[in-house]
Amino acid sequence: MEINEIYPNFCKNDSCFKPAEYRFTDYKDGKTITLGYSCQEHLVENQKMFKEISKSKKERGKNGSR
Ligand SMILES: [Zn+2]
Repeated sequence: MEINEIYPNFCKNDSCFKPAEYRFTDYKDGKTITLGYSCQEHLVENQKMFKEISKSKKERGKNGSR
């Protein structure tokens, strides 16, 4: 038998320490990656933030192909 501790994921908002109810994911290199988590209250706010992160990562990837 194995016992594993489960780490709860918390909202990504700076001043928020609530357990997350939502997970943001993106599709990259054929894999689904987790961008972060959000509670219900900061869902829209975090969605904008993760969208920006996702966008800037993609742009960097295009330019930074050496
Ligand atoms: Zn929150």
